[in-house]
Amino acid sequence: MPEYREPIESGCPDGFQYMHPLSVKNFGQWKYHTHPRPGVLMHEAFSGDRLWTVKCGTQRILDVYTLRTLCDIGDKYADGHIHFTIRSLPEFLVDDEAKVEPLINALEEAGFIVGGTRNSVAMISHTQGWLHCDIPGTDASGVVKSMMDELIDEFRECNMPNRVHLTTSCCQINCGGQGDIAINVQHTKPPRINHDLVANVCERPSVVARCPVAAIRPAMVNGKNSLEVDEKKCICCGACFPPCPPMQINDAEYSKLSIWVGGNHSNARGKPTFHKLVASGIPNNPPRWPEANAIVKRILNAYKEGARDWERINEWIERIGWPRFFEVTNLPFTKYHIDNWRGSRARLNASTHIRF
Ligand code: SF4
Ligand code: SF4
Repeated sequence: MPEYREPIESGCPDGFQYMHPLSVKNFGQWKYHTHPRPGVLMHEAFSGDRLWTVKCGTQRILDVYTLRTLCDIGDKYADGHIHFTIRSLPEFLVDDEAKVEPLINALEEAGFIVGGTRNSVAMISHTQGWLHCDIPGTDASGVVKSMMDELIDEFRECNMPNRVHLTTSCCQINCGGQGDIAINVQHTKPPRINHDLVANVCERPSVVARCPVAAIRPAMVNGKNSLEVDEKKCICCGACFPPCPPMQINDAEYSKLSIWVGGNHSNARGKPTFHKLVASGIPNNPPRWPEANAIVKRILNAYKEGARDWERINEWIERIGWPRFFEVTNLPFTKYHIDNWRGSRARLNASTHIRF
């Protein structure tokens, strides 16, 4: 009787089966890499093998026709080798320098932008928004599209002091970004409660438990089981809205955008850092979000002019100090930058927000 192995029903499949043969052969044996031009990396292994990677940008949420176009280009010009980075950038791998130029030409002819390597503004990552989430306060992919249109040259070229990661987030609480520059939704009013629906739709104890500041209480309203919010306590986070849509917090006027800077997940060369609020109450203004775009460009220009080579945004700000950051970006420092939530007393001294 043959012995069968147990099926593996979780986790991702073995990646080696999909990798370029040179990547498999030289796994862990790479000697160095160079950056021959924006959008292209060349890795050389101790064996002498060389592998070129060509990176391009996409609209991030890909339809099947675009995917087929990318795969056709991969089949024709890159021996069928394509993979996607964490920011949804397709990368093609080729084992011969002569294959690089025709591949780039084919990508550019099809409308893709080659770039996003080294000290460029890498692809902006965004959360799912209206496409398949039930709680967004803005159209994250729309914000990203309008911003990428404005920053396309910064993606194509390597003009920044170091790599810049931008992120967006369409609610305040969930998969939102932590990046060099993050554009996040900011609710500015407590939820309005549709009391007629609460008893039918919401599991009230779960909603009460969701509130991080204990601002929600059960209440009887017009003879029906409902909820009430202590608006003095509410921090307008929106956490009650996902389990209870009648706690309506999204609002065309009062759901704004905010911009945060200096976040870094990585601990490769320094400690991870939290991002910090630098602009709040920005109009959530589709379809081009001009106010948010203007602030992001102002921050990028100040960073480009003021940072030393290879300083990330958080390192640049740490060196020049937050007062100087607000001066060089010409952003107003307002009362909204001060974290005055009473539960934060214990950590105020640890906050850069009040070191002025
Ligand atoms: S950021 Fe919030 S609203 Fe946007 S996709 Fe994630 S959970 Fe949904
Ligand atoms: S918005 Fe946040 S703080 Fe306000 S009631 Fe809802 S969960 Fe609580």
